[in-house]
Amino acid sequence: MVKPDKVLDAARRQMAQRLATAGVTHHEVLQAMATVPRHAFIDPGLVAQAYEDSSLPIGREQTISKPSVVAKMIQALMQNHKKMGRVLEIGTGCGYQAAVLSLLSEEVYSVERIRSLHDSARAKLRPFRIANLRLIYADGIRGLAQAAPFDGIILAAAGLGIPDPLLDQLAIGGKLIAPVAKSETEQQLLLIERLSSQRYQRTTMDEVFFVPLQSGTI
Ligand code: SAH
Repeated sequence: MVKPDKVLDAARRQMAQRLATAGVTHHEVLQAMATVPRHAFIDPGLVAQAYEDSSLPIGREQTISKPSVVAKMIQALMQNHKKMGRVLEIGTGCGYQAAVLSLLSEEVYSVERIRSLHDSARAKLRPFRIANLRLIYADGIRGLAQAAPFDGIILAAAGLGIPDPLLDQLAIGGKLIAPVAKSETEQQLLLIERLSSQRYQRTTMDEVFFVPLQSGTI
């Protein structure tokens, strides 16, 4: 387990309080954000910034998302449920959001296309012994048919649209949240609920900035 650190633990609680004043109202989401040590997932040289509301580099030109974006996306997926069922995350990155999701879901599957990030996320997550989290090295654009259907799908990278396999792998009543590119410089969060086998309801949310969703594994 990561050693408790009074200064960082206090900084994390303050971060959760700031999230609460910035529109994160879901109690369990706030609790999870106050629990998972974000500093344990980033480069030691960046630890002083771990509880600021900023995205940070995690190597291979990728970034860990801002805490407020992580919290708002998960809150949008959960709505008034206390816990989600089976959740798919596309883009494990450093593993931070996967750890947050594991506290809020029955089961989490997290897919990463860059082998070195997948391996280092696995190493960072190991001390936490999270029993309900599976990490998969694969191209998430194809989804994860062997574990579908999912009650929640969350994308941590922006595509031009939502890949069809992900829409197919959503359970009826399930929700998907993803950043989608509107132009080269603009992205918007899209929340999709599957109402029936053929009907999906789309809601557009905040403007965001994410790394691109890319195809294939490397
Ligand atoms: N949730 C992560 C955020 C990582 S950034 C965290 O908490 O750190 C987004 C990640 O999505 C990057 O690691 C990138 O490699 C990954 N990614 C991009 N396209 C992907 C794809 N098609 N399949 C799986 N992962 C992908």
